[in-house]
Amino acid sequence: MSMWDRLRKGTQTVSEKSGELLEMAQTRAAIAKLETEKIRRFTELGELTYRVYSREDVPDAEMERVCDEIRELDRELEAHRERLEGDTLVCPGCSRPVKPEARYCSECGQSLRPVRP
Ligand SMILES: [Zn+2]
Repeated sequence: MSMWDRLRKGTQTVSEKSGELLEMAQTRAAIAKLETEKIRRFTELGELTYRVYSREDVPDAEMERVCDEIRELDRELEAHRERLEGDTLVCPGCSRPVKPEARYCSECGQSLRPVRP
């Protein structure tokens, strides 16, 4: 392999890695946005419930719409979370999943700090 090939290969690996990281960050941002959206719907549902309690006339369809939206948000959240889990880091020693912030594997004690050349 020539020096140029090696350089090219190195550049590819770096851009692939940063692409993955970017995708994970985007998925996390999407999850945060959906969770905010869900809290908003729950607040709305709470207001509707309070109006029912106050004997106001609240159409069932309105309650159902909010509940349907919450269910839809849950489905989207689930899909995003599965995507993140697919990218779970694994210990190079025992192949068990490890938390991204972990310094050592809790199963086998393997150091998980990135090795610097
Ligand atoms: Zn391990």
